[in-house]
Parts: sequence; structure tokens; C-alpha cells
Amino acid sequence: MPRPGEITLSHRGVLFLDELPEFGHTVLEVLRQPLEDKTVTISRAQGTITFPANFMLVAAMNPCPCGFASDPVRECTCSPSAISRYRKRISGPLLDRIDLFVEVPSVDYEKLIQPPNAESSTIVRERIERARRLQRQRFDGTSMIINAEMGPVEVWNFCQVDDSAKSLLQAAMKQMHLSARGFHRILKVSRTIADLAEAETIGISHLAEALQYRPASWG
Ligand SMILES: [Zn+2]
Repeated sequence: MPRPGEITLSHRGVLFLDELPEFGHTVLEVLRQPLEDKTVTISRAQGTITFPANFMLVAAMNPCPCGFASDPVRECTCSPSAISRYRKRISGPLLDRIDLFVEVPSVDYEKLIQPPNAESSTIVRERIERARRLQRQRFDGTSMIINAEMGPVEVWNFCQVDDSAKSLLQAAMKQMHLSARGFHRILKVSRTIADLAEAETIGISHLAEALQYRPASWG
């Protein structure tokens, strides 16, 4: 049990940054330390102090300055160099620290007026709770509670892929020029997808899904 006032790993929040590229370059680069170490260090003339800063970063951005680069109907009016400049505001090292990239297309009028046929949030929540329970059991006796917190040793111990997934992993490493950090991220996301499916080892479908969450092109 945590002592009163003690900040534990379960005390975390969500930091949501809308229009991510509109934040200054320095502001975005400063995020790298808390994303990596879960702490933030503030230095002033009187001294330096480190605070806990364990949060989940959620960010949204347009595909280009006008917002229509991937729209099937509206035409994008941005030049390729303007799109490139816009995307380059998010540095490679910051991108490398983001687990999931999801493109959200605009929704047609016809779809909006139809009744939703997606899974209910209650069912999704139950699946997530089951996966979270699995993760708590996995990290029992450690300070970790979720897969995202695994270091290289835990990734080695808990993120073994089955034989069918090994060649895909090797091909993805080469094609996507993954850094060691990117490689570990793919495996951690794959482990979570396997947990959601209540699968013991990471199979090819779990790995393939995790790979889809990496950005296809960024330039
Ligand atoms: Zn555009």
C-alpha cells in the first residue's frame, strides 16, 4: 500500500496535445525526458528539483497544413514541401517514443446517419480489464503494472514471438529501419495485442497488427 502523499506508478494522467505540430519545437523536445524517465527536472537559480511525471501522451494532428492530404473528396492545396515542413516539426526521436499511430479518415454523411454497429464500450472495457489483470500477474512483485513499462530484460523474457512471426519480425526490422527502441516498442505493443486476445505467445497476427500502428511514411 502506498503511504499517504506518496506518488505511485498508478497515479498517472493523460497529456493530450491537440494540433501537435503547432507546439514549439523546444516544447516538444522537452517532452522526451518525461516520456523516457517518467520524471521532469526543473532547474532554476535556487536549485534543481525532479518531479514525477508519469503520463500517457495522446496527440492529434492534421495530415498537412490544410487538413485534406488524405481526404478522398476534398483536394489538398499544400505543396509537397509544405507538407514535409509541417511533418518535420515532429522530430524523429519524439516519433520514436510514440507507440501507436492511427489515421482517422473523415466520416461520410451516409455513415453518420446509420446506427453504429461497433462493439459496445462495455465489452471493450471487459476485454481491456482482462488484459490488465494478465499484466498485473506478469509483473507481480515488481513496480511495473503494464507492458509499456517493460525494459529490455522483460521484453526478452515476456515478448518471445512464435516461429511464424520470426521471419516477419526480421523483415520488418530491415524494411522499417527500426531503432532498438522501435524494435522493443513493436514487441511490447504485440504483447499487449496478444494479451487482449488472451494468447500466451505472440503470433504473426499480433505482430502484424502492431506493425500497422507504425507510421508508414513520414517525410
Ligand atoms: Zn493540405
